[in-house]
Amino acid sequence: MQRIRGRAASGGIVFGKIFFYQRDEQIVRKRRVGNRQLELQRYEYAKETALAELESLYEREIKNIGKDHAEIFFIHRMLLEDDSFVRRVNDTIMNEGCSADYAVHRAASEIASTLGRSEDEYIRARTADMLDVSRRLIRHIQNKSENTPVFDKNTILCSYDLEPSETVMLDKTKVKAICTCYGSVTSHSSILARTMNIPTVAALGKALNDSYNGCDAIVDGYSGILYIEPDNATKRRMIEKREEEGRKRELLLRLRGRRNISLDGTEIALYANISGLTDLKYVEDNDAGGIGLLRSEFLYLQNDDFPDEELQFYTYRRVLEKMKNKLVIVRTLDIGSDKNPDIVDNEEVNPAMGMRSIRLCFERPDVFRTQLRALFRASVYGRLAIMFPLIVDPEEIVAIKAIIQDVWDELDAEGVAYSKNVQIGIMIETPAAVMFSDELAREVDFFSIGTNDLEQYVLAIDRKDVRLEKYNRPHHLAVLRMIKQAADSIHRYGKWIGICGELAGESELTEIFMAIGIDMLSVSPTRILPLRRKIRSLDLSDKEDILVRSGVMLPREPRHYEVYSDYSADRKYVWKR
Ligand code: PEP
Ligand code: MG
Repeated sequence: MQRIRGRAASGGIVFGKIFFYQRDEQIVRKRRVGNRQLELQRYEYAKETALAELESLYEREIKNIGKDHAEIFFIHRMLLEDDSFVRRVNDTIMNEGCSADYAVHRAASEIASTLGRSEDEYIRARTADMLDVSRRLIRHIQNKSENTPVFDKNTILCSYDLEPSETVMLDKTKVKAICTCYGSVTSHSSILARTMNIPTVAALGKALNDSYNGCDAIVDGYSGILYIEPDNATKRRMIEKREEEGRKRELLLRLRGRRNISLDGTEIALYANISGLTDLKYVEDNDAGGIGLLRSEFLYLQNDDFPDEELQFYTYRRVLEKMKNKLVIVRTLDIGSDKNPDIVDNEEVNPAMGMRSIRLCFERPDVFRTQLRALFRASVYGRLAIMFPLIVDPEEIVAIKAIIQDVWDELDAEGVAYSKNVQIGIMIETPAAVMFSDELAREVDFFSIGTNDLEQYVLAIDRKDVRLEKYNRPHHLAVLRMIKQAADSIHRYGKWIGICGELAGESELTEIFMAIGIDMLSVSPTRILPLRRKIRSLDLSDKEDILVRSGVMLPREPRHYEVYSDYSADRKYVWKR
C-alpha cells in the first residue's frame, strides 16, 4: 500500500480506480507572420468562436450545476474580452508581427503572473482561469479539437492540475473523487469540486504520477490522504470513517436555520468572508447571517488597471441583491503590503508598514472616490456597510467622512440615487487603533477586528515570513486582551464589534470571544456550521470567570498568578491570594 498526503480540499471518502488524466500538450512557438492584418483576423475569428462556445457551455451548465457555478464560463468570457488582454494581444500581433497563438499565450502568461504574485491564496488561484481560457482560445487559433477523456464508473481522477472548466465538465456519475499534484484548496477547481460535492485532495506533489493509472485507491478528502492499493485494515477503517463522517454532516446540516445561541442564551452573529461573486453560493449553503468581509481588492488584483466605477457597481450590486436584506460589509481597497498588483508602483522598504490600505487611498483620491461612488450607487440594492482598513487615528475617519460627503454632493448634483443609511466601520488591526479605540468608537458605527494584521503588528511577526512560523502565536493573550479593550470601548457607545481575521474561525476561542461580548464572527463559509455547533454547546453564565481564568482579564483586586502568555483551553490561569 502507498499512502500520499496532500491538502484536504473537499470532504468525503471514495473507493475507486485511478485514472491519470493528462491534457494534450499545447505547443506555442514564437513565430513571425507575413500579413499582420490577416493574423489579427485569425485571432478575432477564434475569439468569436471561443466566446460562442463559452456562451453555450454557460447555458448548458446552468441546467446541470446551477447558475452560480456555470458562472465560471461567464467569467471566462469576461477574461477573453478584458481590455488589457485584448490590447496586449493586438499589440503583439500588430506591432511585433508575432503569430496569434503566441500573442495570446504571452498576454495570458503576463496577466496570470500578476495574479500569481498575490499573497492572497484566493486571488493567486484565479491564475488558473486566465490560463484555462487562453488554452481554449489557442486551441481555436490552432484549429485543434478538444480531448475529452472517457471514464469508467467509480473513477478517481488524478491529474497534475485541473482547470476549472475541466472540473465543471466532469461526468459526475463516473468521477467520484479528484486528486491533483498541484493546485490549492482555494483554487477555483477545488471550490467547484466542493460545490459539486466531489471529495478532493490537492497538492499531493510529485509522489502522485501516471504510474498509478488503473490502481485501486481510496481518497480521504477529510484528512487529505490518497491510499493506493489499500490493505484490508485501511479499507475497514475508511468504511467506518465514512459512516461516522456521514452522521456528523447530517447533524451539522440540521443546524441550518438555527440560532447561534449558547446554553445560557448568549447570541452571536455568524457571517461569511468572501473574495468574489463565486463565493456567494457557499454563503447561502452554509446559512451565513450576512457577509462580514468582502475583500474588494480581488477586483483590483484581477486587472492591470484600476477597475472602473461600472465594473465595481455591478459587482457590489450583485452581492447586495443576492444577500437581500442581510448585511454586506464591503472593505475598501486594501492593497499594498502582501497584496501588490502591478497597478501600484510599490518599491517598499518594509511593505507591511508601508504605503498600503487606507494610506494608498488617501494618496490616490481618484481611485478611492471611484470605489466610494460605486459603493453608494449600489447601496440602494440591499443593506450595505462600508469598512476601512488599517486605521490608526480618528483624524483619518474625519478625512474619510469629508470625502464621503463630497461623493454624496456629486451624486446629488448628478441626480443619482444612493442611500445614506449605510453603516460606516473600521478595521481594528493596529495597536494604535486599540489604544485609541475609545476615540475611534465615537466616530464610527462598528469595529471589525482584523486579527491577521493585528497579530502581525502586536507580536512583531511579518505574516509573510515563513521562517517566523514558530514565533507566530495567534492565541497570545496580548492579542486577546486587545480584542477585549476594543470591544469594551465600542460597547460603551452602544455600538457593535465583529472579528473577521482568521482567529474568528478557531473554535477553541469561541467561548472567550463570546465572553468578551463580540457581536459577530466572520469566517470562511464552511466554518459557519461547525462554529454554530460549538456555540450551542457553550455555557457562558459566568463570563467574568471565563475571562479571568483564561487570563484575558485581570481579577478585580491584585493577586499573584502564574503567567502564561498563550491562551489554551486546557491551561487555565492559577490565581493565588
Ligand atoms: C486581517 O488583517 O485580519 C484581515 C481580515 O484582513 P487581511 O487578511 O485581508 O489583511
Ligand atoms: Mg488586514
